[in-house]
Amino acid sequence: MFDRVKESIQKFSSKSAVDEEAVEELVKDIQRDLIAADVDVGLVSDLSDEIREEALEGKKDGLTRKEHVLETVYNKMEALLGEKPEIEIEPQKILLSGLYGAGKTTTAAKLADYYRKRGLKTGLIAADTDRPAAYDQLKQMAEKADSEFYGEPDAEDPSQVVEKGLEELDSDVVIVDSAGRNSLNKDLKEELSDVNDIFQPDESYLVMPADIGQSAKDQASNFEEAVGITGVIVTKMDSSAKGGGALIACSTSEAQVKFVGTGEEVSDLEVYDPVKYVSEMLGQPNLESLLEKVEELETDPEEMLEGEFTLEEFRQQIESVSETGMMEDLMKQLPFGGKMPDNISQLTEEKTQAYKYIIDSMTDEEIDDPSLINKSRTERIAEGSGTSSAEVRELIKHYRQTKNMMDKMDKGSMKRGNMQDMMQKLGL
Ligand code: GDP
Ligand code: MG
Repeated sequence: MFDRVKESIQKFSSKSAVDEEAVEELVKDIQRDLIAADVDVGLVSDLSDEIREEALEGKKDGLTRKEHVLETVYNKMEALLGEKPEIEIEPQKILLSGLYGAGKTTTAAKLADYYRKRGLKTGLIAADTDRPAAYDQLKQMAEKADSEFYGEPDAEDPSQVVEKGLEELDSDVVIVDSAGRNSLNKDLKEELSDVNDIFQPDESYLVMPADIGQSAKDQASNFEEAVGITGVIVTKMDSSAKGGGALIACSTSEAQVKFVGTGEEVSDLEVYDPVKYVSEMLGQPNLESLLEKVEELETDPEEMLEGEFTLEEFRQQIESVSETGMMEDLMKQLPFGGKMPDNISQLTEEKTQAYKYIIDSMTDEEIDDPSLINKSRTERIAEGSGTSSAEVRELIKHYRQTKNMMDKMDKGSMKRGNMQDMMQKLGL
């Protein structure tokens, strides 16, 4: 899927200079590939504009222009492809519907295989009474999927078969394979509606082949309107160049893609994973390092301080700083004018030692969240550390003052809430 985008991204990645021309070339390749996959032209045009605009405009500090462009393409493509679904592994009833040749019968067996491999007992019901061969086909596939099977070779009323099947089967997951038509006509609507009433499915999946491309969108909304669907399964992803178009069409409609079919065997079924396609496109190692970098850049330094500047770290800092006696020097170079709480600059070795004992007497919980330390905890900690309640309170006050002070500092240089890092930066 999206092979041309893949290639052109590789080409783009190996370029030394990223200029307007390089971006334009990338955009053109993406356009060609998406149009070939039958993605709606309007969508392609919007996407191109967005990439062009964002590629050459503002970027995050710390990313190269090239990385920024790749990240932009990644984000746009991911947004187009929609969300990864949650698939419940629990007993349930699943109804499959769709037009002729969509892959319903094959998918029914694939789903059975999928749930059986996850420890559930599965059963298939043959509710396609239109075509005589349908019964045999599902029966054979049920065997391959190690699944129970219910069907009546000469049945005429699919709802009756479903009703009997529900009685006969003793399965956790029951899957109904229904009949198709050339189009969603009145006949098919009625049949599906009858089956639906009897079966009362938990999940009602529309099965569509990848090669219908962007018309997946209309088909999904028609089935949704006529019978109500809870999701879509796109089959034949392995054998059509239009898979991307079908997936994007679904994600831009209400329909959520739940699974994709990738071959004719019962094991050829995957939970839909948009990120997989995008990572293939960008190349896994590229993408991983890029995303890591982005995540690092996006993490709010304040959050990191909150998360990391614990009492434990406070202890390490007062120890190291008081040892080297550089606290005061350091403070003078800070953006807020070198003011610091007197009681920190005056920390004596004795105090530092007392603080260490106090923090050692705290529970992990208290170290993580000093707001827990109420009067009785204060007394317990004082006793445990051989200090006084006043000293425990004093320590907590120091910690808060320091934390507060650090929050006011240049967040960039304080990313890890680590004094030593900062001292190094300041050349101390
Ligand atoms: P139905 O008419 O909707 O029940 O469709 P079938 O399940 O009978 O499938 C129609 C044809 O498509 C069969 O030849 C299947 O083997 C084939 N088929 C179904 N799913 C896939 C798939 O994911 N990949 C490929 N390559 N073929 C598939
Ligand atoms: Mg069938």
